Amino acid sequence: MIHLIFDFDGTIADSFDINLRIVNKILKKYDARNISKEEVRNREINDILKELKIPAVNVPSIIKEVVVELKKENLKPFKGMPEVLKTLSSKYRLCIITANSKDNAEKFLKKNKLEMFDFVHSTILLSKYKAIEKAKKDFNILHGIYIGDETRDIESARKAGMRCVAVTWGYNSKELLMKHDPEYIIDKPAELLKLEF
Ligand SMILES: [Mg+2]
Repeated sequence: MIHLIFDFDGTIADSFDINLRIVNKILKKYDARNISKEEVRNREINDILKELKIPAVNVPSIIKEVVVELKKENLKPFKGMPEVLKTLSSKYRLCIITANSKDNAEKFLKKNKLEMFDFVHSTILLSKYKAIEKAKKDFNILHGIYIGDETRDIESARKAGMRCVAVTWGYNSKELLMKHDPEYIIDKPAELLKLEF
């Protein structure tokens, strides 16, 4: 059985604008400049963070603050994604590994009637690569495909020995994603139905 492991923000949930608004509000408190959508789409996130000079010790509390703020928002799935997930769930085991909180993701799934996932793992305290490794062990995943919208998703999957489908409707642009040489790259959720794993 093949497991399809989904990222959440920018892959299933259309959270980019909301997330950026929250992050910029928080950055203001740290006297850091605002970041733009264009910038996030086209630059490596680690380069942006380095340039903002946010001390590494502050990063976990910023992430926690973002998660708390996101909880108040009413996120919507990307157009076409619910139907695609329903179809995929008859053929594959579906799971989620997210840097958002388990609580936020599960609330979203319930609200949007998308409760077809075996598990939701949160990586808030783990790196995504470690979370993938842990999920592989905990759920005995032999054949897994990771589906995500950021270059760090591609790199985490690769490090964990998993193939990756990069999706271009999320936080990073197609050009940026291509530089990381994903095994698959798609522009619309429905294209997931055509891939042979
Ligand atoms: Mg994402």
